[in-house]
Amino acid sequence: MSLALHDVSRTFNGTTAVQNVNLEVQPGEIVGLLGTSGCGKSTLLRAISGLDTDYEGDIEINGTVTKEIHDTTGFIFQEPRLLPWLNVLDNVTFGLTGKPYEKEARALEYLTSVGLDGKEKLYPRELSGGMAQRVAIARALVTSPQVLLLDEPFSALDAFTKMQLQDLLLDVWEKYQSTIMLVTHDIDEATYLCDRVVILRGQPGEVEREISIKQTRP
Ligand code: ADP
Ligand code: ADP
Repeated sequence: MSLALHDVSRTFNGTTAVQNVNLEVQPGEIVGLLGTSGCGKSTLLRAISGLDTDYEGDIEINGTVTKEIHDTTGFIFQEPRLLPWLNVLDNVTFGLTGKPYEKEARALEYLTSVGLDGKEKLYPRELSGGMAQRVAIARALVTSPQVLLLDEPFSALDAFTKMQLQDLLLDVWEKYQSTIMLVTHDIDEATYLCDRVVILRGQPGEVEREISIKQTRP
């Protein structure tokens, strides 16, 4: 799905956090969103996701202006935000539709690919931070979302897990041609994953420049 932002601005109590952002993302493109802390990256992702609707300007998803939460959109935050009263498996099947055994099989497949096979009966309080984040990643990818919004999803993980999950993200992207926006502070991650990076100028955030990256992946 394509994304287009037209003059998107967001103000909190008179303070402008994001100012006149214009941006187009092609279907299947992976775009990195970079910029100093507080320049409005998370604010922008929340607006695109529909979690925040108090912005000005228009956001088009596949040609339609919308302020609603899209069920084709997946979100991974910096912190896991799991439902504490559900075990790992139920946290992952939560957003799925279909027959219970099908949902379970699919969830287990994704839990295995994030390295959590055998952990499905644990509760969030029993997980380390890295494990919980892997559950959050499985939960977002399991629905094969057409738009994926990622807010520093790997920043709290160790280097090895990070590389594994970056490759899992690319696997999902290859399979479903998801359109991805990735907030990151990690330049190596951006050049590894992204087709293009957009740099927001600090306070208030507006697009400062865009850099294309020639990827060698198929
Ligand atoms: P980034 O993700 O780039 O670090 P944010 O989008 O979190 O930046 O924040 C952009 C600016 O908006 C910051 O100055 C932040 O303090 C402010 N901001 C974000 N969310 C809120 C909020 N709910 N209420 C007030 N100010 C906010
Ligand atoms: P990060 O920059 O680490 O990604 P977020 O932008 O996701 O953090 O902020 C986490 C939460 O705190 C969000 O709900 C955001 O709206 C809120 N928030 C951020 N800055 C402020 C602020 N200055 N005042 C009030 N709430 C804020």
